[in-house]
Amino acid sequence: MTGQNETRTRRALVTGASRGIGAAIARTLARDGFDVVLNCRSRVADAERVADDIRTTFGRVAVVKAFDVSDAKATAHALTELLEPGIDVVVNNAGVVHDGPFPTMSEDAWGAVIATSLGGFYNVTRPLVMPMVSRRWGRIVNLSSISGLMGNRGQVNYAAAKAGIVGATKALAMEVAKRNVTVNAVAPGLIDTEMTEGLDADEMKRHIPMRRFGRAEEVAELVAFLASDRAAYITGQVIGISGGLG
Ligand code: NDP
Repeated sequence: MTGQNETRTRRALVTGASRGIGAAIARTLARDGFDVVLNCRSRVADAERVADDIRTTFGRVAVVKAFDVSDAKATAHALTELLEPGIDVVVNNAGVVHDGPFPTMSEDAWGAVIATSLGGFYNVTRPLVMPMVSRRWGRIVNLSSISGLMGNRGQVNYAAAKAGIVGATKALAMEVAKRNVTVNAVAPGLIDTEMTEGLDADEMKRHIPMRRFGRAEEVAELVAFLASDRAAYITGQVIGISGGLG
């Protein structure tokens, strides 16, 4: 995979790319020949460090665009600046957790998780999908979670958001398949990032057949494959990456 098409280098937007899985995805896509736009919400300095590293290591264009994907207006504004020369690959990775037992789950905890994962998918993808359809090539990869497939105690909000991503992925895939735009989801299990820092790792590992957390780079390899020409005939799928969990 070269990341090149006839006229220009393909460009990928990765949301939530200041750290963790998103940063690894941005790096891996750059390695594979894409120019990258790294989105984050607040930790801009971290995202700039990732972008610097990409420019130095892979010699690709890497720019940071900070906006809150759950904010429809801010996202629309930011995306207008990206429409030229366009975005060929969208990775909807930004996500948050606000865990807790459902009976005590606040409206804010419910709303923030849905608005980031599911609202973010809508806000980011909708303006970018028609240009992909017109160009007759595009890749949309959405971060779901094993939690969205199996459920998980204390994650009613998160499981709902991540299950919603699965439905959205399958439906949109059907709408755009004819134009060589693929839409897939990846469903990680437990991955070693800030998001899982507070968990009791030893207890969690007992439930994972491989007895370890995954690495962000392992998820990134799967996303990069789905973004490549090699995955041209894969669409509407949810691919687990969980060390056998689920
Ligand atoms: P992290 O918490 O390490 O990083 C989250 C990233 O999302 C950060 O870059 C953060 O930006 C960004 N972000 C959060 N909210 C917003 C927002 N409203 N707008 C823009 N950016 C935002 O998470 P992970 O790397 O672990 O997770 C990445 C994705 O993978 C998430 O969707 C998560 O749900 C999913 N996932 C993770 C698993 C895991 O075990 N880690 C398992 C299954 C799925 P900033 O730093 O600026 O705040």
